[in-house]
Amino acid sequence: MIAENLHKIEQEIQESCALVSRNPKDVTMVAVTKSVDSKTASELVELGILDLAENRVDKLLDKKQSLSQHQQIKWHLIGNLQRRKVKLIINEIDYFHALDSLRLAQEIQKRAEHQIDCFIEINVSGEESKHGLNPAELHSFIQEIAGLDKIRVIGLMTMAPYEASEQEVRTIFSTLKDLQESVKKLNLQYAPCTELSMGMSQDFKTAIEEGATFVRIGTALFRKG
Ligand SMILES: *Cc1c(COP(=O)(O)O)cnc(C)c1O
Repeated sequence: MIAENLHKIEQEIQESCALVSRNPKDVTMVAVTKSVDSKTASELVELGILDLAENRVDKLLDKKQSLSQHQQIKWHLIGNLQRRKVKLIINEIDYFHALDSLRLAQEIQKRAEHQIDCFIEINVSGEESKHGLNPAELHSFIQEIAGLDKIRVIGLMTMAPYEASEQEVRTIFSTLKDLQESVKKLNLQYAPCTELSMGMSQDFKTAIEEGATFVRIGTALFRKG
């Protein structure tokens, strides 16, 4: 089933890219394995998917341990990170998608042994339940982390509300794209900000049309039938 789901998603990624004349190579599908066990995750690895994501620190560490024979896997932490857990995880991952406060950035600075590729999470929709910086705070945040040499801002990340209409989702993603461009234009060495982590199972096609370079897909990969 996973192979079929994967095939369908890869085809849809290609179609969405074609619609807007983008190269599918510029879109990385990150497989979100939070709802499946390590054995199922390893099936994906066998199929050539090497970007795996978890939203919880403990679960990421467990999966990484179980899949330790697969050294090629790139590990993405996509969920909110508590400061007290930074030291456990920060040197175990390749990408962190949810940087959203100066205090967290300072803790990463203290604990990281090398530069960490981070996405700043933005709460574009303004939903109270969501993590992420308010868009208006982005540029001052970028200035505040200037001295933290363990942090490299490779892009921005957002989540669209589950109930939003396609048009609302599109507006959210295009707003994130504009914000990303505005940081990229600053030409900061510590914040190249060339990437966009946006789009999940239900909205990745729209995200790709609006410029996503990383889509985070769980449900659509693992659903049965
Ligand atoms: C769970 C999760 C996803 C994947 O969602 P699906 O709808 O299962 O594809 C993507 N991003 C984040 C931050 C998540 O927590």
